[in-house]
Amino acid sequence: MSRYIAKAALRGANLIVAEAEQMVESAITDLGADTPVAFTNTAYYLPVILGFTGMEVNNLGHLQKALVRAKSLLNPVPFESLWLPYLGETLDGGAATLLAMEAIEAVRFIRGQQPEPIPGLQLKGTSFTNPDGNGGGGGGYANGPIDDIQLRAWGIQLVDGRMPGFAAIVGAARTNEAAVAIVRELQKRNILVFLSGNVNGRSIIHQLMEEGVEMGYDTYIVPFGTDTISAIYALGFATRSALTFGGMSGGQTRDILLYNKFRVFAFVLALGEVDDLKYAAAAGAINYGFPVIADTVIPQILPTGVTPYEHVISMPFDDIEGDTDAEKARRLVQRCTEVRGLKVKITEVPIPVPYGSAFEGERVRRADMRVEFGGQKAQAFEYLRMVGLDEIEDGRIRVVGPTFDEVPPGGAMNLGIVVEVAGRKMQEDFEPVLERQLHYFVNGASGIQHVGQRDITWIRFSNATVEKGFKLESIGDILYARFHADFGAIVDKVQVTIYTDPDAFQEWLGKAREAYQARNVRLADMVDASVEEFYSCTLCQSFAPNHVCVISPERLGLCGAYNWLDCKASNQINPTGPNQPIQKGICLDSDYGVWQGSNEFAYQNSHQTVERISMYSIMQDPMTACGCFECIAMVIPEANGVMVASREDPSMTPAGMTFSTLAGVAGGGLQTPGVMGVGKYYLLSRKFISAEGGFKRVVWMSSVLKATMAEELKAVCEREGDPDLLDKIADERSATTVEELLPFLEEREHPALAMAPIF
Ligand code: SF4
Ligand code: ZN
Repeated sequence: MSRYIAKAALRGANLIVAEAEQMVESAITDLGADTPVAFTNTAYYLPVILGFTGMEVNNLGHLQKALVRAKSLLNPVPFESLWLPYLGETLDGGAATLLAMEAIEAVRFIRGQQPEPIPGLQLKGTSFTNPDGNGGGGGGYANGPIDDIQLRAWGIQLVDGRMPGFAAIVGAARTNEAAVAIVRELQKRNILVFLSGNVNGRSIIHQLMEEGVEMGYDTYIVPFGTDTISAIYALGFATRSALTFGGMSGGQTRDILLYNKFRVFAFVLALGEVDDLKYAAAAGAINYGFPVIADTVIPQILPTGVTPYEHVISMPFDDIEGDTDAEKARRLVQRCTEVRGLKVKITEVPIPVPYGSAFEGERVRRADMRVEFGGQKAQAFEYLRMVGLDEIEDGRIRVVGPTFDEVPPGGAMNLGIVVEVAGRKMQEDFEPVLERQLHYFVNGASGIQHVGQRDITWIRFSNATVEKGFKLESIGDILYARFHADFGAIVDKVQVTIYTDPDAFQEWLGKAREAYQARNVRLADMVDASVEEFYSCTLCQSFAPNHVCVISPERLGLCGAYNWLDCKASNQINPTGPNQPIQKGICLDSDYGVWQGSNEFAYQNSHQTVERISMYSIMQDPMTACGCFECIAMVIPEANGVMVASREDPSMTPAGMTFSTLAGVAGGGLQTPGVMGVGKYYLLSRKFISAEGGFKRVVWMSSVLKATMAEELKAVCEREGDPDLLDKIADERSATTVEELLPFLEEREHPALAMAPIF
C-alpha cells in the first residue's frame, strides 16, 4: 500500500465527511429533521448507505445518523514517520467517503440541485422526469441516479453476458478525440459507461457533448454529473445489483462487496489529475473489488494476494504506444478489461462504421437521415430460411436491383433482405429464432436504425454512416459475420440477398409472407400437450441461485427473452448451456400443469428448495422468479381476481405498491402463492393461470400493456368469449386503490366477481 495514496485518500475522506455533516446540519436547521430524503425511482432508499449500514434513510434526521457511522470509520491522516500497512484504514476511509458523497447528493436533491443542470445536454431513453417536468430526459440535466426499472432491464444483459460490466469514468480526457475514442472502445465491448467528475471544471461529459456523442440509457452512456461526488451513483448501481439479483439485504456489507467483487465486472477509469477526493472515492471503489486505472502518473497498488483485485494502475496516456489518440484509447481500454478480468467477446464486423450492441438503441432522426426502407413511404421485409447445404454459397452477398444513389436525400425505397442458411444441425423450427436476430445484428451498426420485423421492417441509414461508405451490401457483411460468430454451432453457410428490383421484391415478399403464415400456424399448434419435453433456463442463477424457469410452448420465460423454441435452439447451439431439455414424464395434474419431470428438475436445480411447480397456477406452487420479469401478476383478494403490473409502469397499483416495491416481494427465487413474475406474452396464452380461470381473472392491468398489445389482447378476450373484457379491466388511470377498483369492476360487471373464490 502506498503511503502517498493512503495520505491523500484519508485527507479526502476527512474533508468530505466534514462537508457532508455541515450540509446535513444546515439542511436540518433550514427545513427540519423530518424532511423526506429520497433518490428518484428506487425502492432502495439511499442504496450505498443501505448496503453498508442497513439504515433505511427516509429523512434528514436518519441521514445525520448515517453520517455518525461514516465518522466512526475515519482515521487520522498518517504522519510522515509512521509506517503502517494503511490498507484497512484507507479502505475504511473510502467507505466513509462513499457514505458522505451519497449524503451530499441526497441533500442536493432536497435543495433541487440534483440531477445537476447541464445546459444543452440531451439524453436518449432516460425515464427520469426533470425538475421542469419534462419526461424522457427533456434536456438540460444530467441523468442522476439510475432508476430501478433500468437497473433490472440491464440486469438481464449482465446476467447472460451480453454486457460484460461497467466502467465508471471520472474526470476529463486529454483531448476530445481521446474522450470519444475511449467511450467508443467501451461501447464496442458493450461495457456500460458511467460519467462523472471534472478536471479544472472540464468534464468528459462536456467533451462528449462537444463532439456530438449521444448519451442516455439507449446508448449505454450515463452522465451522472460533472463533479466527483456524482460518481456515487455508480456505486449505488453496484450495491443495488447485489440487493436485486443477489437477494441480499441492506447491512450485509461483506456479502454485498463480495458479490460485486465476483459478479459485477466494473472498474474506475480516472482521467486527468487525481486529487484527494478522487483518491478517497477510489479507495471506496476498491472496497467493492473495483480496480482503478488512471491515465496519469500515480503510485500503483499491485495485487496483494489477500485482496486479489486490489489494484491501482497507472497508465500515463502519453506513454501508451500508438500514433493516434484512438489507438492509445484502444490499448487503455484493453488494459482496463484485462485488469478487471472482463470477458469480452468482440465480433469483427467488416463495415466502415463502429459496431457493437451499444449502438442498438440508437435512433436516426429524419433530419440526419440519408435514406429509409419501410416506414410510411416504402416497404421493407426480412426473411430467413433454411436451405440445403449445396443450394447456397457461403459468404455470397448480392444486391438485386438499384442502389439508393438515385433516391433523393431523406427519401425512401423498398427493400427485401433474404438470408439463407444451411447447416447439418439447422432445423426449420429455428428459422424464426434466427430471423429475430436481424433486429439486433443490423442495429449494432452506428448510424443505422432498425425497427420491426417480418414485413413491417423499417430501416434508416444516417447521412454520416453513408458518407463513411456504408452500403446496402454492408447489411450482408454484418449478417454474414454475426450469424457465423453467434450461431456457428447450427449454421455452416450463410448467403444474403438484398432485393430492390421491383419485380424481385414483390416475388420474394410473397414467398416471405407465405412462410410467416405457415410459421404462425405451426406455432399456434404447438401446445404443451403436443411436445415431449420442456426446457429449463438457469441463466439467472448467476444472480438468483435458486431460481429455475421452466419453459413450455405455452409459457415463455418470465423475462420475455426466451420462449420454448429459443431454448430448443440454444440447447442445440450449446448442449451443456443453461437451457436443458426436461422430459415431462408422468402428468400429475393436467389442470394445474404439474409433471413429474419438471418437479424433479426444479428440485434438483433449485438446491432442493422448490419441490413442486404448477405451471398454470398463481395460487398453488407457482413458479419462482429471479428479478427480470416483464410483469408481476398478483392476486387482489377483495376483487377475486389478479392484477398485472408492467415493469414500464411507475404508478401506484391497487396492491398498495408500485412495481419496484412489488418486485422485492416477487423476486429472489422464492415461491409466494398469489404473486408471480411473468413474461408479458404469457398473458396471451390459453394456459395463463388457467387453474384459476385464466385471463378472465385479470381485473387490473397497467395501461402500457393494454396499449402495446392491443390487438393480441383483443383476440384473447374474444377467445375467452367476452369480447368487451378489456374495457372491464381497470388500469392506473381508473384505479390505484382497491377502493377505486371495486366500484369500477361492479359497474362493468367484470366476470371475476362472479367466479369461484380464488382462495
Ligand atoms: Fe432468467 Fe428465466 Fe429469462 Fe432464463 S428465461 S434468462 S432464467 S428469467
Ligand atoms: Zn432473471
